[in-house]
Amino acid sequence: DIEIVTTEMLKSKITYIENKIKNILKESENTRLIKEGINTLIIGRPNVGKSSILNKLIDEEKAIVTDIEGTTRDIVEGNVVIEGVSLNIIDTAGIRETTDIIEKIGVEKSINLIEKADLIILVINNNEFITKEDVDLIEQTSNKNRIIFINKIDLDSRIDKSIIEGKNYVEGTTFYEKGLDSLKSKIVEMFNLDKIEKSSFTYLTNARQITLLKECLLLVENVKEGLSKGEPIDLLEIDIKRTWELLGDVIGENYSEELLDQLFSQFCLGK
Ligand code: GDP
Ligand code: MG
Repeated sequence: DIEIVTTEMLKSKITYIENKIKNILKESENTRLIKEGINTLIIGRPNVGKSSILNKLIDEEKAIVTDIEGTTRDIVEGNVVIEGVSLNIIDTAGIRETTDIIEKIGVEKSINLIEKADLIILVINNNEFITKEDVDLIEQTSNKNRIIFINKIDLDSRIDKSIIEGKNYVEGTTFYEKGLDSLKSKIVEMFNLDKIEKSSFTYLTNARQITLLKECLLLVENVKEGLSKGEPIDLLEIDIKRTWELLGDVIGENYSEELLDQLFSQFCLGK
């Protein structure tokens, strides 16, 4: 039956294309990280130890550390190289509910940075009860590359562990430098820093191309799902055509409608 053959053939081709796209996206992401570094954001409530963590990571007293809430008013940046890849670290003003208009701007700035970061280090104070701000931050960063750092384990524990259960977290203290090595290992693991090929600068570095390719991936995944559900091929054809067009855009070549129609006419679509 020609229709079944077409479906099977499409399935294998689509899977092949899906894997290719995934690999290119992964490689492109790695290339970007090697070239530009990992944009890392340290966030958390005031006084949990964010600036202390920055200082320990970069091995320099760059950010001012005091026990006064709101010491870090604007962002402080630092840099450290791990496994040949640069961590561009930003230490932020503590995030808390505030009516102070200036502090509010600082807090909003911190929250906006979350979207742009490649990695979030969310710091929680082991010695205090979990607050609404902690919970909000955990939720706001749940779809990001995030490591929770439970700081101040030299003090009594007051946090409710169930809140971080199953999440990627490290316990430590900047006082005795506990947990900082584990934090670094987790970063290496998260981005496969010890495995990525540092000399290969192939693939896409253009943000537009990457966006197009991500769109292609969604379409291809749709087609794949449609195929497995047995949806009619003429329906899936729309997405396949669109993928083809987008791939043309990625490499800067566009293919005419006629060519597409000619190609698709070779499939028996059971019309
Ligand atoms: P930030 O406001 O989140 O940047 O916090 P800081 O790094 O400025 O630290 C706030 C206060 O907590 C300072 O007094 C630090 O000395 C103290 N602190 C930081 N880390 C630890 C820790 O691991 N244990 C204890 N006991 N205190 C800490
Ligand atoms: Mg600070």
